[in-house]
Amino acid sequence: MVSAQRSKNIQGSAKSEDVGGGDPGLDARRGAPISTTHRQASFANMSVHSTSSAPSASVSMTMGSSTVAIGAATLCIASPYLSSLLGLLTAAQRVALAVAIYLALCARSQHRSSKRFQVQPPASEDRGSHGHSEATADPDLRTEHLSRTRSSRPSTSAAKVSATPQQAAAPPKDSTVAEKVDFVRSQQCPQLVDACYLDAAAAPPFPTGLVQAVAEDVSSRLLSNPHSKSPSAIATADHITATRMRVMHELFGIRDTHDWHLVFTAGTTASLKLVAECIDWASLQSPSDPHARFSYLRQSHTSVVGIRDLAARAGVSSSIFSEEDADVVAGHAGLVALPLQCNATGRRFCDLMKRLCRTKADRSLVLLDAASYLSSSSRLDFSQLNEDERPDMVAFSFYKIFGYPTGIGGLLVKASAAPHLGGKTYFGGGTVDAILAESAWTKPRREFEARFEDGTVNVHGILAVNKALDYYAQSFGAWDARREYVAGLSDKLVSALRSLRHGNGNAVVRMYRDADGSAGGYGPIVNFNLITATGMMVPPQEVDRLASISNIHVRMGRHCNPGFVTTHLGIPASRLKQEYAEGAGCDDAGDAALEGGLASASVRASLCLLNTEEDVERLVGFVARFFLSTHPAPTLTARVQPEAGLQRRFELASITVYPIKSCAGQELARGEAWQLTPHGLQFDREWIVMNLANGKTLSQKRFPKMALIRPRIDTLTRQLIITIAGTSSRFAVPLDDGDQYSDSQGQATQVCGAEIWPRAHTSRALRSMLSELLGVSCTLARQASGISRHSKLPTATSKVPLIFSNESPFLLINSASVARVSEWMQAATHTGTEDLASDSGYSSASHSKTDSTAVSAQAPSFRANFMVTPRASADDEGRVAFAEDGMSRFVLGGRHVFGVLGECRRCQMVCVDQKTGEVKPQTLKTLAKWRRNARGRIIFGSHLAWLPDLAPSAAAPDEASQVWVGMDVVAS
Ligand SMILES: *Cc1c(COP(=O)(O)O)cnc(C)c1O
Repeated sequence: MVSAQRSKNIQGSAKSEDVGGGDPGLDARRGAPISTTHRQASFANMSVHSTSSAPSASVSMTMGSSTVAIGAATLCIASPYLSSLLGLLTAAQRVALAVAIYLALCARSQHRSSKRFQVQPPASEDRGSHGHSEATADPDLRTEHLSRTRSSRPSTSAAKVSATPQQAAAPPKDSTVAEKVDFVRSQQCPQLVDACYLDAAAAPPFPTGLVQAVAEDVSSRLLSNPHSKSPSAIATADHITATRMRVMHELFGIRDTHDWHLVFTAGTTASLKLVAECIDWASLQSPSDPHARFSYLRQSHTSVVGIRDLAARAGVSSSIFSEEDADVVAGHAGLVALPLQCNATGRRFCDLMKRLCRTKADRSLVLLDAASYLSSSSRLDFSQLNEDERPDMVAFSFYKIFGYPTGIGGLLVKASAAPHLGGKTYFGGGTVDAILAESAWTKPRREFEARFEDGTVNVHGILAVNKALDYYAQSFGAWDARREYVAGLSDKLVSALRSLRHGNGNAVVRMYRDADGSAGGYGPIVNFNLITATGMMVPPQEVDRLASISNIHVRMGRHCNPGFVTTHLGIPASRLKQEYAEGAGCDDAGDAALEGGLASASVRASLCLLNTEEDVERLVGFVARFFLSTHPAPTLTARVQPEAGLQRRFELASITVYPIKSCAGQELARGEAWQLTPHGLQFDREWIVMNLANGKTLSQKRFPKMALIRPRIDTLTRQLIITIAGTSSRFAVPLDDGDQYSDSQGQATQVCGAEIWPRAHTSRALRSMLSELLGVSCTLARQASGISRHSKLPTATSKVPLIFSNESPFLLINSASVARVSEWMQAATHTGTEDLASDSGYSSASHSKTDSTAVSAQAPSFRANFMVTPRASADDEGRVAFAEDGMSRFVLGGRHVFGVLGECRRCQMVCVDQKTGEVKPQTLKTLAKWRRNARGRIIFGSHLAWLPDLAPSAAAPDEASQVWVGMDVVAS
């Protein structure tokens, strides 16, 4: 079966290990070294979309700005209500609606393309309140993106509002893959509207078009149980058979399906387990080689490693091997398992697979885990392989390829290997031809597949696979083009991350990948950790947390790949065992400190066909913004920060610490300095009020009276003094006495990794004081772990723990914006025409013009740590409300650099009057009217993270991390 075409290719390509059609990596001709020109040519092809290797920091700049521009484009297109409405409509209605809304928004966006909020104030509104929301975007880029997005839709769609879904949803015939992807993203991916999804290796996202096509298909056929014999049952069985053949043809390039069997399973793990259960080890033994073995490559997924326990039960010993000792393994009888692509690093093992298959012993089977390799852009084309280079069995999952559906996968078995799977013991529903109830007489089905598919197969899943093959071909074109597109994105991500340098020249990213790629190809997976300018590893948990708040989806952890953890991360086995003993055994929970520059885990970004350049740029921009230190080369600052010219000057008008979560704040006096910590202002939210019935944290949302609990930290006497407004209750809690908290009073604490459990205060007086106020059995509790453990770290920057999850470390608001909200509320109250006026008894100050009283009355509702106020010297633009929107960094006192994590989403908590504990719904209603983003979320204020590594200069140690009212604040 060696085709003439194949011999034209060049074998042994070290660069590319794809097994796709026409790929050089799989050519049969051995021994011919790859020519440099060929290599370069194929590289040039792959980087069609890349602007190539621009030097260091400038890359990140371009990326950061176009990211925002694309954000603007997507925000204009997507309405938050659309997605929820969509669920209720038929496909045709949906498309009609989508087109109509798109047209409406398009017309709008021509006038307001740079505006961010959907609900806009009347024309008299000064543009400063929203006109700068895209401050970090390059206006030219933005226009380009918008027009590109527009032009990627066929203009004729306007006339086809009533057309069938297929017609309206079809991307232009001659478009590139990138254009097709843009089209599908804009039309069929509401779930990705403002998400940056880079976790395709876990499960790729899927477009609505795929699910609609599947729904239409399965609901329009009369399906039945294929084990039945009615016409519909026979038709169903025929569909299944046809899909089996089709998968073998299209995913595996198998021409003669006679040589292979495809068993449908629940997925890769199920397939691997099936092999482990059914393999007849004795059939692999011979007098000359009486000890069959199970060997697995070090980079194997846990699903493969698990086979060893079933092997052990059969008396078969297991061993691990690396690429270098592969030849030794191949000499033994038994089962040899390896991944075609490492799910942790993306490293491909095509050459190794071929070598193992060629050199394996007679009674030896090669089991390939293709779960990570197979994707919507990468198939495993056996027609590109010599007969003796094909594995005996291949396990895979369809959701890793198409995104949808889960619960269906396959085990592909070479006909010659089939006799070795004779060890299956269970035969029942669907797998028997004949069976007697009274005596042990069972005759398994004769067809190979039927013997392995216990019960009724996943009929709907199999039909979905069939549709998915159609859908991807129609929507994205041929496999080769798809592969090139994703490889191009991946190359771009790799080179952009590699090019990120701190001001002192050190790399920002440590990638778990060969520097030059010479050892083998890689799939679209980038596994990395971030390094500070001084060479410290940034805890991946911190990267993950900041990414989550920024709506960037990556995977942090150990990636179900134990070999990766011990080799690439270099964590010794003894350490892992110890961690497990300490309760941090869960895969992704490794939150331990990092001695000796070791990372406890890593971050994995993985790409698929639905990703775009903007996703890549967003990740790179995120890394640059939060982890790139420009010091000590200030000239780089301008290049890294987009539009460095645009700065806003403020004064730090107030600082508020909230020692007890959801209780009143402690406002600092002028001249009082306060300590910054990576998790917020010192003592901020270090305590909670804990419900003693269930161990949960009480919130003002349910218990507005918590606003009356007034905690105050007295740094001189080192006490937390708790008073309750309007009463004489008072309780002093020493700051440094850990013994006042109980370990056991809370609930049975489930210990797993980084989970932080509060410890309840033991005082009865305190308990009744709080319980009486709130009407629920509760008391004060303090974080059990965390603080002491984290402070052991060599520098404070090694960790950004958020003491209570889902809070960002710092929240900043602008007094000018607070004033604007007050104005809106008063206007509504005065005109009386708005529904606001009808709400229960709220009447703000009787004067119509906003003054500072109104501001100070409103500000506490937003529960910020920092309130800034525009400098008197600021220009008009700088003094308007919401000038803080769209900023990416705030520098306090010229020394403390804060990165903006995102806007603060608001809930009904802003309605609690922080003086009286009364609930006044006007605030949220007003915000909801004026401050909704394109996703429909109500936003006000900015979440910040302190980035001490980015400090422009090392201040005196004692002052190094202090803030006080009156400091200069420069936003850029
Ligand atoms: C995802 C994956 C698996 C597990 O697949 P399931 O679908 O969860 O059974 C196994 N091996 C590799 C390499 C994978 O990427």
